[in-house]
Amino acid sequence: MLHLITYPHPTLRYPAKPIARVDAHLKSLVGEMFDIMYEHRGVGLAATQVNLPIRLFVANPSGEKETGPELVFINPVIQRATGSAEAEEGCLSLPGINATVKRNKSVKINAYGLDGTEINAEVDGFLARIIQHELDHLDGVLFIDRVPEQNRMQIQDELSGFESTFEMKRKAGLILSDEKIFEELKAWEAKYC
Ligand SMILES: [Zn+2]
Repeated sequence: MLHLITYPHPTLRYPAKPIARVDAHLKSLVGEMFDIMYEHRGVGLAATQVNLPIRLFVANPSGEKETGPELVFINPVIQRATGSAEAEEGCLSLPGINATVKRNKSVKINAYGLDGTEINAEVDGFLARIIQHELDHLDGVLFIDRVPEQNRMQIQDELSGFESTFEMKRKAGLILSDEKIFEELKAWEAKYC
């Protein structure tokens, strides 16, 4: 069973490893990722957000299970990024925090689908933003890292709140130690990377 993890869980800072094989279990994990994404009313979810250290993310720009396309990107690489656009972003791992982030306007992405099909697409608009946000997750980067210094003050209090809640949960034994988390990540890497 996968669970959404929130800031400042250490896996959110862990650079995910390329996927070397896809099996039936991984396909079912991707299904769980979509369920978690819809449950939390998100439009994208990276594997690191459910404590999986592998290069994969899912997205559905509509945010509705029955509506938009269900996209899966395995080993995604942005080959070209052009233009610039600012828009407000949020993140399921930082619930309640929103901030304006500058991204590229369009991206050319290369990746693989769950069935092994190669994806080569030129994307712009909202989906381009989702792709950049989720790909950042796979490199251990959060959208708050991209908020300009002068706007960081506004979110600093909320981040401190997340940090003290995390410490409390860990003291209560609800969150594993860094060492145990690292062991889990290594086991996933041994299986899929
Ligand atoms: Zn996010």
